[in-house]
Amino acid sequence: MTFCLFAENSYLFDTHAKIIAQGSDEKGTYLVLDQTVFYPQGGGQPSDIGTIECRDLSFDVIGVRKDGDAVRHYVGNQYTDNLEGADCLCTLDVAARILNMRYHSAGHLLSNIAESICREMIAVKAHCFPNEAYVEFQGPGICDQESIAKVMEDAIGAGLPISVFKIAGGDFEAKFYKLPYPVPPREEFRVVQIGTHKPIPCGGTHLASTGEIGNFEITKIKNKNGNLRISFAVV
Ligand SMILES: [Zn+2]
Repeated sequence: MTFCLFAENSYLFDTHAKIIAQGSDEKGTYLVLDQTVFYPQGGGQPSDIGTIECRDLSFDVIGVRKDGDAVRHYVGNQYTDNLEGADCLCTLDVAARILNMRYHSAGHLLSNIAESICREMIAVKAHCFPNEAYVEFQGPGICDQESIAKVMEDAIGAGLPISVFKIAGGDFEAKFYKLPYPVPPREEFRVVQIGTHKPIPCGGTHLASTGEIGNFEITKIKNKNGNLRISFAVV
């Protein structure tokens, strides 16, 4: 099992850890650690990249995936050493992580704001990879791009707090709203909330404030398979 430090603190960019397994699969050669700061791709957010240093070896981490309750760190270098039990130092590419956090948080804010301006729109999908990010909405298929852009700019300028908390499924639905998928009533899950906007279950890494999103722009709006897709960039 890998303890996911990124879920506790998005601003922790390095850590010491122990290598608990190594192997290879169709994606390549990987290391499994007892704890990690590396976010595994998922929830519309790409994996972190960075390095793992162990003994006199330095591995480039080129992809990260979840495998059950373990996190596999795919490394670009070949090696023959048995590293199980060895201590290592994990270091993120901080610029790449911060950019992912800006895109991811911008996707949440865009979802909240478009839903609040266009009452019938519901965000159903978010893809927050840099340079190809979008949020898709079900609804009437129209929205006022200028209004959304203006409210986004105001919300970013206001530096709204982005909070993360855990709550049991039943408590979430009693306090906030009914989720469009079944949730175990007693099982806790992680939720992100921007200011007083609607909270959203999410396991990703987020900024502490909307002010850190920086410059935001809507790059395209189009209808895609019956949904309205709003593409965006942070610059
Ligand atoms: Zn999120």
